[in-house]
Amino acid sequence: MFPIRPNQPNTLAGNMGELRTSHFHAGLDIRTGGRKGLPVYAAADGYISRISISEGGYGKALYISHPNGEITVYAHLEKFTEDITKYTQNQQYAEKSLHVKLFPNKNDLIFKKGDIIAYSGNSGSSGGPHLHFEIRDKNHVILNPLKYNFEEIKDSTSPIVKKLAILPFTIDSRVNGIFQRKEIEIEQKSKVRYNAPDTIEVFGKIGFELLTYDKLDGVNFKCGISEIDFYIGNDLVFNQKIDSLKFSTQRNILVHYNYERYIETGNKFHKMYIDNGNMLDIYNTNEHKGKFIFDESCIYNALVKISDVYGNESIFEFVLKCTSPTFNTTQQIDTQKISQLNNVLVIQNNNKDSTIQILSPHNNHSISPKYVNNNNFTYLWKMNNSSIQSIDLCDSLIVMNPQEQVPPNTVFDFYDDKIKTHFRKNSLFDTIYYSTDNYYNADSTMEIFSIGNPKLYPLRNSIDLTILSNKNFDVNKTHAYKISENKYSFSGGVWKEHQFHFSTREFGEYTLLTDSIAPSITPITLSKSNLKFKIKDDLSGIKNFNVLVNEKWILMDYDYKTNQIWSVDFNSSNNEQGIIKVIVTDNADNETIYTSIIK
Ligand SMILES: [Zn+2]
Repeated sequence: MFPIRPNQPNTLAGNMGELRTSHFHAGLDIRTGGRKGLPVYAAADGYISRISISEGGYGKALYISHPNGEITVYAHLEKFTEDITKYTQNQQYAEKSLHVKLFPNKNDLIFKKGDIIAYSGNSGSSGGPHLHFEIRDKNHVILNPLKYNFEEIKDSTSPIVKKLAILPFTIDSRVNGIFQRKEIEIEQKSKVRYNAPDTIEVFGKIGFELLTYDKLDGVNFKCGISEIDFYIGNDLVFNQKIDSLKFSTQRNILVHYNYERYIETGNKFHKMYIDNGNMLDIYNTNEHKGKFIFDESCIYNALVKISDVYGNESIFEFVLKCTSPTFNTTQQIDTQKISQLNNVLVIQNNNKDSTIQILSPHNNHSISPKYVNNNNFTYLWKMNNSSIQSIDLCDSLIVMNPQEQVPPNTVFDFYDDKIKTHFRKNSLFDTIYYSTDNYYNADSTMEIFSIGNPKLYPLRNSIDLTILSNKNFDVNKTHAYKISENKYSFSGGVWKEHQFHFSTREFGEYTLLTDSIAPSITPITLSKSNLKFKIKDDLSGIKNFNVLVNEKWILMDYDYKTNQIWSVDFNSSNNEQGIIKVIVTDNADNETIYTSIIK
């Protein structure tokens, strides 16, 4: 049965398979009208097989194992029912920790379908009150809850199709006559039919990407689509179908959608081809993996069918014309720009002599333009030919940041004078071009370490960095911080023999900062039945907190979003007086102790 407000119309803010930044959404986000505290019901008979309380992520979450082996998950809860609370608190007191992960036995907490197990909330990394509900098989493979025919959710709205992108995969491929990734706004012809406005000229090995999402009845959230079928002529070039998802392959979403475009614009284009390193098992293609080779001069009719889990469909049609490239093009070419696409360097320039020089450590290459528009020439260079030091454009010299080619599936070490990068066997999805750099910020107060190209490349797994720093740091309180938009986020790390070591799953800019300021503790309520404090830490963030009354550990709840801790079952009416002690530690091990007396 539906786990919240059963037998009533419900709406969703998110569905299973929706594209999140580093994973596909694993369940339904069921709306609770902006409220917390709605009863949450067991979806079927079963027993509580996992109780998890974490600061972020799912917050307070329950897992029920059912007789058929399936598991249902209820997350971001406000609180559990009495039996589950009692069971959990026993363990919390034993571990002296709010955050626990418990695996009760089969006979500990048994529930019938429809029994109340908890109350909905906004705990963990939830951005507003709702219930996150999942169904998994016995191996924790994620299933689609909307396949269980819940009458509470109706949907007759078809997916929305926004943009098509077409891109070349080899140096000889062209889109509208030039080497470019071309985005095309799609025209909506009727409720479920879409067209591209013009015929698109293609040549060579070409891939297609689609900006599309599902819309559900009555709400305006961008939800995930279930199935894409892409045909050129009568050939099914590519199919994706999200029926189930494995947690072990979730991070492959970073190569499922176009990461570079997402970083640049926030749009997640579904690739309608299987990119290198993508290990998701949701696709069905031929040996070309969705990339299509256009080599015969003719017209191709392309059709994409986009379906949601209720079978609502949208059809998008466009026309492709295979045209051999010509030297003269009418396409707009920037006068001076260097860009990179599918490991081809695109150099645009308006020079008189028409050839340019690629200067490499071992030899120089004179290259001719591939096409021209009104004295604006374009040159293409396969990046795996050799590493480039500079490009001589006759009237100017462009010095390139030397980049090392790093292959995937290999342990690889890269050194510059200050930074050593260790790539693990599974750090990369695909070959990348890598460099590191270090420099001081404008007022020379902070040394910045630039690690790889965060706009182009996602990481599958962590890389390990070792940094040599001349500065004298307080080694116990200095850690790596990632810099983004003038904010610093704690990335940890340790000092070992004058070297700083840390690991990260994100390229970008990092710095070493010293946090010597301890957290602040502000009392809000101090009574015999209720304790509440505001706890805050500025730079490294709060690592842990403990509250003692007469040296006895007190269970406190915590919400990092409001910086508050509060007592859960505190009642000191038996005590005449209590000495309260609040101890808060940050990630740099600065500690603040607040003491007071409860009268
Ligand atoms: Zn969710």
